[in-house]
Amino acid sequence: MIQISVVIPVYNEEESLAELHNWIVRVMEGHAFSYEIILVDDGSNDGSWRQIEKLADLNPYVKGVRFGRNYGKSAALDMGFSKAEGDVVITMDSDLQDSPDEIPELYDMIVKEGWEVVSGWKKKRHDPISKTLPSKFFNGITRMISGIKLHDFNCGLKAYDKKVVKNIHLYGEMHRYIPLIAKWSGFTRITEKVVEHRPRKYGKTKFGLERFLYGFLDLISVSFVNRYKKRPMHFFGTLGTLSFLSGFVITVWLISEKIYGLSRGLKVRDITAQPLFFLALVALIVGVQLFLTGFLAEMMISNTSRKLDYNIDKELNFRG
Ligand code: UDP
Ligand code: MG
Repeated sequence: MIQISVVIPVYNEEESLAELHNWIVRVMEGHAFSYEIILVDDGSNDGSWRQIEKLADLNPYVKGVRFGRNYGKSAALDMGFSKAEGDVVITMDSDLQDSPDEIPELYDMIVKEGWEVVSGWKKKRHDPISKTLPSKFFNGITRMISGIKLHDFNCGLKAYDKKVVKNIHLYGEMHRYIPLIAKWSGFTRITEKVVEHRPRKYGKTKFGLERFLYGFLDLISVSFVNRYKKRPMHFFGTLGTLSFLSGFVITVWLISEKIYGLSRGLKVRDITAQPLFFLALVALIVGVQLFLTGFLAEMMISNTSRKLDYNIDKELNFRG
């Protein structure tokens, strides 16, 4: 029985790991929690994996997974989620910006108060304004789109009921939107907690300004995919029907115009010579195509199951 799994993505953070480990252990032992610390090395090229080996050697509750290359933070979290055994799963960054002292309260919010997702809110943030300002903007848009009233979707420090992490699959840059994915997967007890945020002590940030473009594109795809992945036909089928119907209406209009003209002995252009005819043709064809796309997507999802296809280079301390 493990009460808490701490899942930590690690990409070139060798200087922070020992300090972070000792701090987490202090908190866990102070509260007599049964725990595991899952360090996922996301293809680091510094000494991070050596550090993880050392810690795993020292402490059997430290578990390590090492990717063969850098897959990104979402993949690292996804891997950690698939390995986690604790009742409560807590994610935090490995750069000491998140404080392990928050763990006990986060745990209580899940176990005693019954929340399914508790998202950290870095109310007093120790990052440059080039990061904090666009991030405010993003959080605003995300709030609007998702209807989830969080201030800080991207905070690395979050706590989950185990069943949430076992039911969601992250890829690409989706780590920013886990609360959305959780909500759309049916977990609606989502809240936030103000957490302490600390300046980065060692190393440097792994995300540049491109994060905002990617973040925006991901927001679109995550909203789309999560809303329609279960029934893509509802999306494509609706568009297809609209397109087909408009083509149909135009065709009927052209035909009745022709019949009306003929019945009055007027000179009416050939239907196929009218520009509208081509519009109708395109709308009809596009409609059928969209329909078929929806159909294919439905067939695909009925055939796929969750699959983890990361190249795992090494593993430490996992059972079985
Ligand atoms: N990280 C990762 N893979 C990546 C980039 C980052 O696992 O490709 C980890 C990184 O080691 C850290 C966390 O994700 O633990 C957050 O990264 P960072 O501190 O650079 O982000 P910031 O705090 O600047 O938003
Ligand atoms: Mg950081």
